[in-house]
Amino acid sequence: MQKLDGNVLAGPLSEVMTGDATSAHARCVHCGDVAVIAQAVVYADGSRFVARCRRCDSVLLTIVEAGDDVRLTMTGVTAFTMPV
Ligand SMILES: [Zn+2]
Repeated sequence: MQKLDGNVLAGPLSEVMTGDATSAHARCVHCGDVAVIAQAVVYADGSRFVARCRRCDSVLLTIVEAGDDVRLTMTGVTAFTMPV
């Protein structure tokens, strides 16, 4: 997997959410850090994305694109706040 910044998630997240989801704030369940998704450290391999906390490196969320489906898991996020 390549190590990228959170901006690479703009496309996959836009399929799940409206607006620019990379400007949403997420709170890490492990260390409590709150940051915009664009600041996450992302590992990508084709259609798989793993976003890790910029502070403690724990997994925040994963996105897997498979055919017509996009699977989003957010087990490492306690709060996800989208701007309106
Ligand atoms: Zn963290």
